[in-house]
Amino acid sequence: MAFRGRSIGSKRLLCIYTMAKYIFITGGVISSLGKGITSASIGKILESRGLKVALMKLDPYINVDPGTMNPYQHGEVYVTEDGAETDLDLGHYERFTNARITRFSNVTTGQVYNAVISRERRGDYLGKTIQVIPHITNEIKERIKKVASVSGAQIVLVEVGGTVGDIESLPFLEAARQFRMDCGQENVFYVHVTLIPFIKVAGEIKTKPTQHSVGTLREIGIQPDALICRTEKPLSADIRAKIALFCSIKEEAVIEARDAESIYEVPLVYKNQGLDRIILRHLNLKFKSYDLASWRKNVVDKVVNPRYKVNIAVVGKYIELQDAYKSIYEALVHAGIANDAKVIIDKVDSEDVEKEGPDKLLRNASGILVPGGFGYRGIEGKIRAINYARTSRIPFLGLCLGMQCATIEFARNVCSLKGANSTEFNKRTLHPVISLLEEQRQVKNLGGTMRLGSYICRIKKKTRAFAAYKKSMIWERHRHRYEFNNKYRKLLEKKGMVFSGIYPKQNLVEIIELKEHPYFIAVQFHPEFKSKPDRAHPLFREFIRNALKIKK
Ligand code: GLN
Repeated sequence: MAFRGRSIGSKRLLCIYTMAKYIFITGGVISSLGKGITSASIGKILESRGLKVALMKLDPYINVDPGTMNPYQHGEVYVTEDGAETDLDLGHYERFTNARITRFSNVTTGQVYNAVISRERRGDYLGKTIQVIPHITNEIKERIKKVASVSGAQIVLVEVGGTVGDIESLPFLEAARQFRMDCGQENVFYVHVTLIPFIKVAGEIKTKPTQHSVGTLREIGIQPDALICRTEKPLSADIRAKIALFCSIKEEAVIEARDAESIYEVPLVYKNQGLDRIILRHLNLKFKSYDLASWRKNVVDKVVNPRYKVNIAVVGKYIELQDAYKSIYEALVHAGIANDAKVIIDKVDSEDVEKEGPDKLLRNASGILVPGGFGYRGIEGKIRAINYARTSRIPFLGLCLGMQCATIEFARNVCSLKGANSTEFNKRTLHPVISLLEEQRQVKNLGGTMRLGSYICRIKKKTRAFAAYKKSMIWERHRHRYEFNNKYRKLLEKKGMVFSGIYPKQNLVEIIELKEHPYFIAVQFHPEFKSKPDRAHPLFREFIRNALKIKK
């Protein structure tokens, strides 16, 4: 293999300059072991020791970002403050830690190749052959260091997507391997998340898949420093010793990660096994005595032992997929914590509401939430569910498309605008109550061109929105193309709709609500992205509070 034009010297300097230490989190055996939650939880326990952390994810797919992917392919698209469409694991990072997540926090193979190939076309590498090593791996390393420098963090946690052994993630793993050479043994820590399956017929848990997976990592040149063992059964001392021996890992660094009752318990599970100490000793960092007491009291205890219960129907079209509405489900849990209640989420397929009507499917719901989405499929079911919430006076929260559907429902059924619709679903509707702004009509490329990221919103006093937020200027994240059509504002207002939130610069409707209803509020933005377990989003918190009232 030829190494052309490689300068390790300058890389080493950059490490010293940024002073950051790095933790790489890889996954083995199978996917879906919860690497995102592992990374977020490690971030949390390190933060609890008084350290500043940053988190990022490397995704092996060739898309530049997940923005154009179907939720069935990818799950939720998480939007950052600065308007990047990213992997849903970044949502976990923001919910668990105080780290600032930006567009630099999600690196994909697509972005890396895009950058290198653009440079090659410009002629920046004239005379050279462009290769995976060093050009692609250097680009990956630069992007990791960029997060270190923009965040000013002491520790950067880098989650490597995919499973060790995949062809696609090899350049990322190679870059992770080089990091230890570039930055030094004491500045880089490798965590490997693995599965210890329980074999029913044998009545035993098995370590072989883990041995093989660590073996594959070693072939790449990475010796993990800690293993997070996902398991149904406890790891005995013997099993720990065996894993440690076969995988060349200290016994104390074999961490048992049994399925927890709540994801918010995971940091405590790691903490109790001393993972924070193991990492910080290796990285030679000074640390304070830890503080997770308020997390335990105000988050974990509340989730595990709630006083009340409330059923909330989420009426969407990606219901069968656990990950499609991740942040919404989490925001509901947070709102439950704030109200000392367990939120039981009834996932209702909007196409079923279309076919069977709302009465049967929504009968048990004390609150109805309609999430965001794209395309016409399932829309009429969402509109019927909203009609049911409005007329039966059940608390309702509409998010993005949910707000657009609430507008359509009100226009059709209260304002008698027959066939009112969004131009997304019917270009020739007589009453386009939701439509495109001129700037969106000009858009040719679909990737990264929606109204994205954080925008300011002015809240009208004496509204439900104001009662929830308790302030008149708020910032919320957006991801949509279509907008409320201001031509219909007067008419809808006359019929009782309140426009309680406006984006002042362009006079765009951001929040709608109904006065004569216990709680009917819908927003053009995505409040779910800003909710945290110990700081429930005000709109979700009030939604659950009102749902509980209905129940009582
Ligand atoms: N499809 C709608 C739009 O583009 C809503 C998008 C969403 O719910 N995120 O405006």
